[in-house]
Amino acid sequence: MTSIQNALIAGGGIAGLTAATTLSRAGISCDVVDLADRPAGAAISLLNRAVDGIAEMGLLEQCLDEGLAVSPQEIFAYFDAAGKPVSTPPMPSTSTSALPHGILIYRPILANILGRAAEEAGASVRTGVGLAGVRQTEDSVTATLTDGSERSYDLVIGADGIRSKTRSLILGDQVIPKYTGLTMFRWVADGVPDVGPIGHYESEHLCVIRRQRDGGVYLATGRSFPERPRIDAAQARQIVRENLRTFTAPLMCALEERLTDDTKIIVNDYDWLLVSEPWYRGRVMLIGDAAHATTAHLGAGGGMAIEDGVVLGQEFAAGGSLEAVFERFMARRFERARMVVETSVELDRMNQQGEPIVAQNKVRGQAMEALSSPY
Ligand SMILES: Cc1cc2nc3c(=O)[nH]c(=O)nc-3n(C[C@H](O)[C@H](O)[C@H](O)COP(=O)(O)OP(=O)(O)OC[C@H]3O[C@@H](n4cnc5c(N)ncnc54)[C@H](O)[C@@H]3O)c2cc1C
Repeated sequence: MTSIQNALIAGGGIAGLTAATTLSRAGISCDVVDLADRPAGAAISLLNRAVDGIAEMGLLEQCLDEGLAVSPQEIFAYFDAAGKPVSTPPMPSTSTSALPHGILIYRPILANILGRAAEEAGASVRTGVGLAGVRQTEDSVTATLTDGSERSYDLVIGADGIRSKTRSLILGDQVIPKYTGLTMFRWVADGVPDVGPIGHYESEHLCVIRRQRDGGVYLATGRSFPERPRIDAAQARQIVRENLRTFTAPLMCALEERLTDDTKIIVNDYDWLLVSEPWYRGRVMLIGDAAHATTAHLGAGGGMAIEDGVVLGQEFAAGGSLEAVFERFMARRFERARMVVETSVELDRMNQQGEPIVAQNKVRGQAMEALSSPY
């Protein structure tokens, strides 16, 4: 039996909606608030045990219906500038379970699936309103929202992403995101002919290619900057064009032909942070990117967010005091999240410094092996 009745979850992203589903199913009444009006983003690949988390929530069939089954071997296959395969250490067979080893899905579709699951489990999900403040006593935590309303809860979960307001409310400026020196440019192009497989294409720049269920081709390509840049829409298109022009692979040429002055490029700096143990103060717990954010070099940030939500639900279902639940959660999550953050940052460094792909995939393979153990 759970020791608490209700929870506010700040952030209706991957971590927040997963936790809302699992905590609601454990008998906790959950309110989710998200500052944004609607989910954003392009494709995401959920690898390894994230798939077990999706299956544990009963959402595997929906995710496979609306996404695509994919393996880390395909995602991390390498090709040179001309599109020829580059031999690298193979990714280990990641999961011992019979489930697919990965799912490629459009982020807004994943958000809809997770949001529906949370509501069906009994959670209330509100968008366009966020967490603004918390006041704690021994028995409760009072949350103030951005619309000025206040309500007391037994628990507040900060699942509000890398620039978490919840984190700053409980930790001040102790932890701030650090820029890795790499900024990413992402685009989903329609109508691209099937002239090359998905994977990593490497010239002097790296282009990550994934195909979506509707045939759209997702491209993520990076550029290094000495410090965090300010980039407008036209500059973003120009950088993507310049990166694509360093390839002769037919797929890169097909993408470049489709890049027009109307193309919308999503720009994200690669930042990272790791909150040291514990991720909670009193009755406020951080999960997902709010506690541990990193680059996509392992394709694991979203997976870690799902695992956090699933493990927290398991621990509440197992019962005990709030403190006991939090301690058991930290014992299962900290080292795994630390490994993902540190390995991703190391892979980012190796990539930016032009270290051989073989060496990069060796490091990646070891991390994948570790992530194949159950959460
Ligand atoms: C370029 C790029 C590519 C990536 N690709 C992958 C990939 O392929 N696979 C993978 O597993 N991971 C990937 N990641 C990482 C992944 O996107 C994150 O780890 C994941 O989104 C974290 O989920 P989250 O729910 O913790 O945070 P978020 O997804 O950031 O969600 C946080 C939510 O909180 C809301 N919010 C913010 N402030 C407040 C507030 N004050 N009150 C209430 N709500 C608030 C936001 O609107 C948002 O909806 C990638 C990251 C980047 C940058």
